[in-house]
Amino acid sequence: MPRARKAKLYRKARHLAHLRPAHLNGKLPSYSMVGSYPLFYLTKHNNVLCADCANKEGKDSDDPPVAQAANYEDPDLYCDACSERIESAYAEKD
Ligand SMILES: [Zn+2]
Repeated sequence: MPRARKAKLYRKARHLAHLRPAHLNGKLPSYSMVGSYPLFYLTKHNNVLCADCANKEGKDSDDPPVAQAANYEDPDLYCDACSERIESAYAEKD
């Protein structure tokens, strides 16, 4: 992914410090609580992860997820670990 696009994603992302809510047992969610927007994660080394892959990365990983963001309108966002496409809120093709 181009550097500028990643920088833009980071600006919109929320830091993960508050993002492992106790009621989810510290699990990172796939959808936002408000609005149910599809979520993805950004790692320390600028990789994009789907929620499943973000949950597989432990605290001891050398590339842990550090931020969470909602995918509003990117129909071509893919997980860098499993290559699954990350669903978007508004840009889905029927
Ligand atoms: Zn994945």
